Amino acid sequence: MVDVHDKKTRSFNMSRIKGKDTKPEMMVRKFLFSKGFRYKLHDKTLAGKPDLVFPKFKTVIFIHGCYWHGHDGCRYFVIPKTRTDWWLDKIGKNKLRDSDNLSKLKREGWKVITVFECELKPAVREKTLNKLQKKLSGVSNDKKN
Ligand SMILES: [Zn+2]
Repeated sequence: MVDVHDKKTRSFNMSRIKGKDTKPEMMVRKFLFSKGFRYKLHDKTLAGKPDLVFPKFKTVIFIHGCYWHGHDGCRYFVIPKTRTDWWLDKIGKNKLRDSDNLSKLKREGWKVITVFECELKPAVREKTLNKLQKKLSGVSNDKKN
């Protein structure tokens, strides 16, 4: 494969990819596990291969990088000044795919929770995780009633 990216763009890409796949997701996983939630990871049989799947609650969680998923109005979503059209096109396609996956999952009766990386920054992390816990518990309460 011919690498069409210049060096700067490439290292930019790599840093984003690395950041996306490791820390934020682990944070959510550890937290929910410690609260007693059990889940499956990256279920390939579901649209978009959700990061966490809670079959018991019929709920999935996506942890999205603000950049790749074009988090609207987010200060971490900054369009590069070079190859701007190419990036916009790419991110636009990612967003389309995200909303496609969302409707597919909803049609199949799944509740979908999306967490963006910026919601897991130290200042807001606790709030986000507690909210997540509440949402999941809420689902379980609904079922009991
Ligand atoms: Zn964001």
